[in-house]
Amino acid sequence: MVKCPMCEKGNLQKGKIKETMFGVFLGEFPAEICSSCSESFTDEKTTQEIQQAAKKKGVWGLGVKTKITRTGNSLAVRIPQKIAAFLKLKEGEDAYIHTDKDKLIIESL
Ligand SMILES: [Zn+2]
Repeated sequence: MVKCPMCEKGNLQKGKIKETMFGVFLGEFPAEICSSCSESFTDEKTTQEIQQAAKKKGVWGLGVKTKITRTGNSLAVRIPQKIAAFLKLKEGEDAYIHTDKDKLIIESL
């Protein structure tokens, strides 16, 4: 039995994980899952397969660092071209902005 490196309490058991990235379902992949904390671990081959699936679905690289700047009294967030294209955001269109706990959500209307 292999002990879980995260909690060091549970044992790792073979199983399947449902992988999503930025809310898009990528598929089911084999993983070792901890019997105690439910943390899952994938080997290098599976990790690459998950990357490939993310690239295929067009969600790879949709999470990036951005700068918050000031425009007048408000703050502005730069939306990278790749993310704008994925969400089909266009300049001049209306959007709805709101919080979700400590996250910022921008929805196109
Ligand atoms: Zn664990």
